[in-house]
Amino acid sequence: MNITARAEYVRNHLAALYPHPPIPLHHQDPYTLLIAVILSAQCTDARVNKVTPALFKVAHTPAQMAQLSVQQIHALIATCGLAPTKSRSISTLSQLLVSRHAGHVPRTRAELEALPGVGRKTASVVLSQAFGEETFPVDTHIYRLARRWKLSCGKNTVHVENDLKQLFPSVQWRDLHLQFIYYGREHCTARGCNGRQCPICHYLSREKN
Ligand code: SF4
Repeated sequence: MNITARAEYVRNHLAALYPHPPIPLHHQDPYTLLIAVILSAQCTDARVNKVTPALFKVAHTPAQMAQLSVQQIHALIATCGLAPTKSRSISTLSQLLVSRHAGHVPRTRAELEALPGVGRKTASVVLSQAFGEETFPVDTHIYRLARRWKLSCGKNTVHVENDLKQLFPSVQWRDLHLQFIYYGREHCTARGCNGRQCPICHYLSREKN
């Protein structure tokens, strides 16, 4: 089976399992999504979804957040991992959104990645899920699965992202990125595996190249 056929099998299997994958982080607009994605680093989405209602009740716009001290933000997100760093990023980022972007989340990758706490994956998630841009955010789940399913042998997330973009049509990137994540969380964890226990690997390993 060539890599194109492998990709098609994976895509069909994931589409059957997760036909309409929802965005897992609760949010109301691009700003609250951006904050939720920043909070999700080294923290489960479930934990973030428990923290954000209280945070957004106090401040759900850049202008409101910029009025809070770092200590106030920290107190509201303390149960998330890396809370001290995230508090500083959220504070500075919100001030920059007010001063540079008239209180709005910018729609370009360069402007997003210029904000503190925003790397390539976070920018890609916001561009995809808030603005409908065709990006393929690659996190640790997607990196792991793409390699286990031999869709990429990339040594880093950018390499894997480029390989996946070559394999799948751009209109499928948004759903696929979410479907990979759901599958990784539910079935294919970072723990070791014999590579035969799930239908996808079982099927792919039966078919010789
Ligand atoms: S068999 Fe399942 S858990 Fe193991 S690598 Fe394949 S998809 Fe992941």
